Amino acid sequence: MSPSKARRAERPDYGWVISFGCKETGELKRLKVDTDPAADTSPIEVPCSCGEVHRVTVSPYRRRRAADEPFDLEVKSLDELRGG
Ligand SMILES: [Zn+2]
Repeated sequence: MSPSKARRAERPDYGWVISFGCKETGELKRLKVDTDPAADTSPIEVPCSCGEVHRVTVSPYRRRRAADEPFDLEVKSLDELRGG
C-alpha cells in the first residue's frame, strides 16, 4: 500500500455491517460480514453475545463498514446464519 494510491476511486473493502437491536440488553449490536449481503436479504439468525439467537432482517440495515469500526461478531457470509 503506497500513499500515492490513496486517491484511487475504489474504496478499500472492510466488509459490511448489519446492525441489530438486542432485546435482552437493549443494545445495538453490529454484525460484520465479508461478502455483500445484498444478494440474499432473507432473515438471518444471529447468535448474540447475550446468549440468545436473534432473528434479524437484513435489507434496511446493511452498510459499508468503516476501517476502524468495531463489531460484535463476524461471518464470511450470511449463509452461515441461515439454517440449512
Ligand atoms: Zn442479544
